[in-house]
Amino acid sequence: MVQKDVLAVATAHARAFIAGLEARPVGQQGTHATLAAALAGELPEDGVDAAQVVDELARAVEPGLVATAGPRFFGFVIGGRLPAALGADWLTSVWDQNASHYATSAAASVVEEVAAGWLLDLLHLPKTASVGFVTGGQMANFTCLAAARHAVLARAGWDVEADGLYGAPPLHVVAGADAHVTIRAALRYLGLGTKRVRQVATDAQGRMQAAALGATLAGCEGPTIVCAAAGNVCTGAFDRFTEIVPIAHARGAWVHVDGAFGLWAAASPRFEALTAGLQDADSWGVDAHKWLNVPYDCGVAIVADPSPHRAALSSTASYIVPSGDARRDAMDWVPEFSRRARGFAVYAALRSLGRRGVAELVDRCCMLAERMAESLAAEPGVEILNDVVLNQVLVRFHAGPGEDPGRHTENVIARVQADGTCWLGGTRWRGATAMRISFSNATTTEADVDRSAAAIRRLARD
Ligand SMILES: *Cc1c(COP(=O)(O)O)cnc(C)c1O
Repeated sequence: MVQKDVLAVATAHARAFIAGLEARPVGQQGTHATLAAALAGELPEDGVDAAQVVDELARAVEPGLVATAGPRFFGFVIGGRLPAALGADWLTSVWDQNASHYATSAAASVVEEVAAGWLLDLLHLPKTASVGFVTGGQMANFTCLAAARHAVLARAGWDVEADGLYGAPPLHVVAGADAHVTIRAALRYLGLGTKRVRQVATDAQGRMQAAALGATLAGCEGPTIVCAAAGNVCTGAFDRFTEIVPIAHARGAWVHVDGAFGLWAAASPRFEALTAGLQDADSWGVDAHKWLNVPYDCGVAIVADPSPHRAALSSTASYIVPSGDARRDAMDWVPEFSRRARGFAVYAALRSLGRRGVAELVDRCCMLAERMAESLAAEPGVEILNDVVLNQVLVRFHAGPGEDPGRHTENVIARVQADGTCWLGGTRWRGATAMRISFSNATTTEADVDRSAAAIRRLARD
């Protein structure tokens, strides 16, 4: 058999997928049984030709692919991939650089350095902050909270890296009642527990209430971390940083901001006001694979003071020679040791959009969220549950008298998912079942919104 070029096979499948993305049903079509039947089987004793493996893999998984990269996927908060980021990401695999330190890839190190500088500039964060490129928002929160744990315990005279938490001064963690689940997971990984977190009451949009924060902090003696949010995952709401950061700092607390998607509002002159006061926090987590439309996986951990960041994450071994202050060793800033050179795709995305392009991307998604909310609200029985301040829309569907709106909303969501015009999911907000519609894909147009809104309205009436 003629040895086929595996990259040519991959490229052909990539082109076909991209060409069909707009038209394919948005949700997955294959079932577990059909996918397993196409993919399962014994591990072969002898290897199979690379091009054949890739060709057959691409065909077998096709029915199980979700068009998350396409323009009408509104579930969770996902985002697609910009052409420049995709091209750079392909080359990242081809180059196969180990981005752990300068010696393993000067290219990865310098590109991260430049991309980090651009991010701090774009998001109006301190130019001296340290930046780690991690897998996503979860690890960004983890990384930042590891730095926080180090800093607040060091101030109390405790070296948590050396001595762990055994016998350490009690550390208080305070978070808004609507904090993202990944904050709790990060606290779990850090040995801080989830039950000990003091929850601060939030308002109808999910914003931490400043007075409640003050009252909670009054009961926290000693090392304290406050977890705030820029962009609630349901409503898109932002904590009022101008109020809460000074309250927390007055008590000596570290303020971490989970801004997985919301932090991008800082890049838009129109939406920047939502982030007012956020620059004064101590650490920020943000995703690149969501709103910046970089391929999975990529998140960014940013810490105002590099010293606790490095102290919490850095590691050394006899065979590693630190590259010195002027050269970036990426492993100083992330939990991973060897890892993918994520900076290439971030660099490419930022350069291809430019400052104006990022602002336009944010503005367009928010405008589309408003358009969707208006279109749906025009339908009798449709209630928009949140103030649409950013890119998130929460919808509840009321049926005729006697029918439970929660059940009806669930039915509408299921019908929309089966219909395939667009895809979105459900959530619970303030005890009520709601449809959650999220806008973060760079390719979504007004026509996509109109077509999707028409489908949702039709399916809600049927
Ligand atoms: C998505 C999200 C996270 C988690 O980010 P991943 O990239 O999925 O790990 C954390 N916080 C918020 C607000 C999010 O929207």
